[in-house]
Amino acid sequence: MAKLCFDYGHGGSDSGACYKGRKESADVLSIGKAIVAEVRKYGITVDETRISDVTVSLGARSSFENRSTYDYFISFHRNAYQPEKARGVETYTYLNAGTKAKSLAQSIQTFLAALGFINRGVKTANFHVLRETKAPAVLIEVGFIDNSADNNLFDAKKNEIIRAIAKAVLSQLGISYTEKIPAKQISTGKTVYRVMSGSFSSRENAEVQLKKLKTAGFDAVIMTFSK
Ligand SMILES: [Zn+2]
Repeated sequence: MAKLCFDYGHGGSDSGACYKGRKESADVLSIGKAIVAEVRKYGITVDETRISDVTVSLGARSSFENRSTYDYFISFHRNAYQPEKARGVETYTYLNAGTKAKSLAQSIQTFLAALGFINRGVKTANFHVLRETKAPAVLIEVGFIDNSADNNLFDAKKNEIIRAIAKAVLSQLGISYTEKIPAKQISTGKTVYRVMSGSFSSRENAEVQLKKLKTAGFDAVIMTFSK
C-alpha cells in the first residue's frame, strides 16, 4: 500500500508569509491535515513532518523523509509577492525531477485551476525539501496569501481544495476518488429544521449578517455551500 510524506511549511517561530492577520503556517496546516484525513480513508499511510504549530527546520524535514521510503513527498505552502499584486496556484518539482513528480504536480495544478485559481503552471526550483528528499517530491503554493481574491477563494472553497488535492494524489496512485460520506452525515431518519437568514456570495457580507444576529441575541453560525 502506498506511503506518503506530507510536509506543512513553516510553523512555530516561523509563520511563513503573513497578510492581514493570516499566517501561511496556519493555512497550510489546516488544509494539509484535512487532506491527510481524506487520503487515509483509502488505506494510505501518511507521515507528517509536523502536526501542530511547532518550529521544524528544513534539515529536520528532509531527515524525517530520509528515514523511510515514500511513494511521494508533498510540501504545502502559500505564496507571497507584493500586496494584491500576484495571484494563482503553482506547483514546484526539483530541477531534474522524474516523470512521477512532474505528473503529480501537473495533476494538482489542473484540479486546483478548475476551482477558479489562476494556473501559473508547474515550475522547477532548487528548494531544500525538493532537493534533499528521496521520494518524488512536489511543493504546492496554494494561492497567494497577500492577495484578497486568492484568500476569498481559499476560504470559500476550502473543502473543494482539500478534495481536489486528495483526488490528484489518489489518481496518481491509481486510486479513483469517490465521495465518502462522513459518518456524522449518515441520516438518522429524523428531521431537523434549520432557520436561514440570508445567502451571501462574499464572506464579509455573511460575517456582517452573523454579527447583526449575534448582537440581537440570536445563536448563529456561517455554513458554506457550493453553488
Ligand atoms: Zn512557504
